Amino acid sequence: MTNLHAQNQEDMNDYKRIMQQVDDANHIVITSHKSPDGDSIGSSLALYHFLRAYGKNPVVCHPDAAPSFLTWMPGGHDILHFDHSPELVAEKMAAADLIFCLDYNSSNRIGKDMEVHLLSSESIKIMIDHHMDPADFCEIIVSETAVCSTSQLIYELIDQSGNLELLNEDTGTAIYLGIMTDTGSFRFPSVQPRTHAILEHLLKSGVKHYKVHENVFDTNTIDRLKLRGYAISEKMEIMHDLPVAIISLTEEELNRFNNEKGDTEGLVNVALSVQGIEMAAFFAEKDGIIKISFRSKGDRFVNVMAGDHFAGGGHKYASGGMSTDSMDETIKRFKNVVYNYFN
Ligand code: 5GP
Ligand code: MN
Repeated sequence: MTNLHAQNQEDMNDYKRIMQQVDDANHIVITSHKSPDGDSIGSSLALYHFLRAYGKNPVVCHPDAAPSFLTWMPGGHDILHFDHSPELVAEKMAAADLIFCLDYNSSNRIGKDMEVHLLSSESIKIMIDHHMDPADFCEIIVSETAVCSTSQLIYELIDQSGNLELLNEDTGTAIYLGIMTDTGSFRFPSVQPRTHAILEHLLKSGVKHYKVHENVFDTNTIDRLKLRGYAISEKMEIMHDLPVAIISLTEEELNRFNNEKGDTEGLVNVALSVQGIEMAAFFAEKDGIIKISFRSKGDRFVNVMAGDHFAGGGHKYASGGMSTDSMDETIKRFKNVVYNYFN
């Protein structure tokens, strides 16, 4: 098998080689990372709908379910979840002759238990992703770190393999969702002229962009809004002498507001939006583990910090990690790390 690192437009024509693998495959599984976000759902469902239009019958297998503001998507309820149906997903992965790994660069991002089935599968594996430093567990790797989203790369796959006439409204809606969520609604530096050219084509293909925005952003519950209000008014801290904002929520606080998946999504960006703030961190306790989101802007980067100190990683301006220390210990450690980083 070949290792393909598509780095420029010409290399992208190698998407045709991916479609050759699709032609040869009878059992196609589409996977993405744990705690799915808009881009994992968007890229998975875009590929799902496209491959169905192409005449294949793929199955999407995710480690766990997405929050409700993402599951309304066409095909959203066809996704199998490893944490809910481990035997069924294991069976699909064992039977697969082609597995797509979307929006993740390292096999452990699907979680230890599902990873076993990925690595033991004899299937051809294809990674399509936009995170830095792809690990070497796939036969074909499309790693485009300058591209805003994996969903945009699915568009490139469809376009550059000569299949654009198969792009229907469902496929386009999924691509739109992934681009929208991974670019903070088309505003991050990762947005390229190409991104807008793709969006133009999606709208011309019948994608109802306003429906995507409404379903993602105008579906708050009262509990979610109260939790966010509490987090901002009571739990946001600006570090002394540093342009760093922190929000933390313990399990008790999350339970108090009947926290549901996705309720704290984007809180870290609220902290980063404070005037003058260059870096933000959000800490949430779940089952005794602290999950951390990092965001930054300008010439501050968070990916190295997430990798070196919090067992995580990600993009320069958006990373994640975890800690098994207590909330207080974790925040103290974070403050030391950023203090050293800024000085
Ligand atoms: P979020 O803060 O939204 O959970 O994650 C932001 C970004 O950080 C994700 O898009 C992903 O690239 C990265 N990320 C989050 N958690 C982890 C992790 O545990 N390990 C790695 N390598 N990256 C992560
Ligand atoms: Mn992504």
